[in-house]
Amino acid sequence: MNSRILLVEDEPGLVMTLTDLLAAEGHTVESATDGAGGLQQALAGRFDLIILDVMLPGKNGFDVCRELRQHGQDAAVLMLTAKTQVSDRVAGLKLGADDYLTKPFEPAELLARVEALLRRVTKEHCSQVLQFQFGDVEADFEKGSVRKAGHPVGMAGKELQLLKYLVEHRNKVVSRDELLERVWEYQACVSSRTIDVHIAWLRQKLEDNPQAPRHIHTVRGTGYRFSS
Ligand code: CA
Repeated sequence: MNSRILLVEDEPGLVMTLTDLLAAEGHTVESATDGAGGLQQALAGRFDLIILDVMLPGKNGFDVCRELRQHGQDAAVLMLTAKTQVSDRVAGLKLGADDYLTKPFEPAELLARVEALLRRVTKEHCSQVLQFQFGDVEADFEKGSVRKAGHPVGMAGKELQLLKYLVEHRNKVVSRDELLERVWEYQACVSSRTIDVHIAWLRQKLEDNPQAPRHIHTVRGTGYRFSS
């Protein structure tokens, strides 16, 4: 399983060891050595898993985790803590971490946790939506047909793919970069402007009032969020 992993850890030795370990399992690993840098990298790229040390220079791991979730970043988060206090673990989990590991740990234990988290993430990402209903709209992605108030709506292939992606990631913020990667697959001549135009078309066709959308929301400076 090839996954994208971000490692935020300030001990150079550990960064090297864990990077080698995870790369040997076929994963692509990027790393950051402080909290602010880690947060920036996490928000800029698309990662399946973020391994986050708690004790970091500058912003600590708890703050990074909280801010990630506030920005709608839904990658799995495995926190590394040198402390064994239960309160620390609980704090991490409350802030949106998925699991934690207490230092020092055996490489095998880290790998086991990583694989378990990645399996969970992959399963969630594969939860394809085949039919979906919102407002008076019925979308059948399997047949490629959409109806609004019982009337068929003509949709281009990309519009349908975009709608499907938004629906599958409903209630989450989806960035334009993510849409470029996942829906347009980095086709040449596609810019974030293309995305905005397609969003406008979707609203025109599916929203009762495209000027005041109830389902396809703009998240200023980031992208879009679908809610039913
Ligand atoms: Ca540390």
